[in-house]
Amino acid sequence: MITVEEAANIVLENVRTLPTKETDIRDALGFCLAQDVRSDLDMPPFNKSAMDGYAVIAEDTAGAPVELEVVENIAAGYMPTKRLKRGQASKIMTGAALPEGADAVVKVEETHTSEDSKRVLVHKRIEKGKNVSRRGEDIKAGQVALAKGTELRPQEIGILAAIGQRIVLVFSAPRIGVISTGSELVEVTSKPMAGQIRDSNSYSIVAQAKQLHTEVEFLGMVPDDKVDITNIIKRGLNKDVLILSGGVSMGEYDLVGDVLSELGVEIYFKKVALRPGKPTVFGKKGNTIIFALPGNPVATLVTFILFVGPAIRKMMGFASPINIPIKATMETELIKKKKRREYLPAQLRQNVGNWLVFPVEWHGSGDLFSTTKANCLLIVPETVDRFDAGQLVDVLLFNSLGIGHGCKG
Ligand code: AMP
Ligand code: MG
Repeated sequence: MITVEEAANIVLENVRTLPTKETDIRDALGFCLAQDVRSDLDMPPFNKSAMDGYAVIAEDTAGAPVELEVVENIAAGYMPTKRLKRGQASKIMTGAALPEGADAVVKVEETHTSEDSKRVLVHKRIEKGKNVSRRGEDIKAGQVALAKGTELRPQEIGILAAIGQRIVLVFSAPRIGVISTGSELVEVTSKPMAGQIRDSNSYSIVAQAKQLHTEVEFLGMVPDDKVDITNIIKRGLNKDVLILSGGVSMGEYDLVGDVLSELGVEIYFKKVALRPGKPTVFGKKGNTIIFALPGNPVATLVTFILFVGPAIRKMMGFASPINIPIKATMETELIKKKKRREYLPAQLRQNVGNWLVFPVEWHGSGDLFSTTKANCLLIVPETVDRFDAGQLVDVLLFNSLGIGHGCKG
């Protein structure tokens, strides 16, 4: 059986970065830049005050305390009109342009203003340049502010706005189709009868795809019937990514693998050495990549994180599409059950500067509830059979650290 790394590499080798598109920066969150973007101005665009206080000539404060003549009051958005001469100061607000002649700003807290506001007493000596943001110190006009391949987070969106780029070129997000298979499945709005369960996978898969800002469509739910499965997969083959769940184990009614082969999908792997998530299928037909994930909800969640997420990120132009684990210290001991690599729902918490982790109570790959008490997956390598408390281990973060309220543990 192939390892998780081998499987992830096969997936990444077989997906291409999608074509670029122009987008308004208001819709660009989570996308990657497909162009270098240059600044059209110096940032800051003028020497500006970083504090509310008094613009001064630093040398004048050498013999502080010293009293200076206040010649002007400069608000943000207005240009100063007076050049400072020796012995003078201008009252200045945060973000306002520094008057000519001035080379430092004394914080208002370090001054005392006369009653008529015409004079200011500066208590302490100030160094040249203090509390002044110099023109172009962040970036100069014409320089690349954000390089091709940069992921657009809120701060990058802000920078694009600051440098006047309302429209940018990004790599497109894949169009994704989601299908649930299983004769036992009923809609979320129905009360399951004996032997039935509600289809939860399509909801969690769609949510995972939305976290990556993709265009995702639920194509429907089908019973374990060859004709039904064939017809719905055919409908999904015009998507960039098709994600199925269920019907890939060894049972008599696990028909998804056969149907994919009959439809001419080239299958690259059918099993990966991990728990949960062993029966994971990856294939490709034309420009569509297909994942058939195991139906157990935790296995579906984990295999999406390990394989589907990286594929989507590569399509969207991310330079490092793989999730990187972080190190944490085991809070408890752990005895491993299987030889395969395990990804266990776990809780990570801060304790005096250390990340501590413990696996949450978990009843197996059908127990999605346990993952609501978890904020990460604890990785237990194939080579170990136990972890001791205090041991350094790898964990993979969920997208959000939120832990469900109203659950114990
Ligand atoms: P399978 O992969 O089809 O063998 O399914 C494994 C387990 O996952 C079974 O207990 C199924 O009932 C359950 N399961 C399959 N599909 C879903 C789904 N869409 N939502 C919730 N559970 C599912
Ligand atoms: Mg099934």
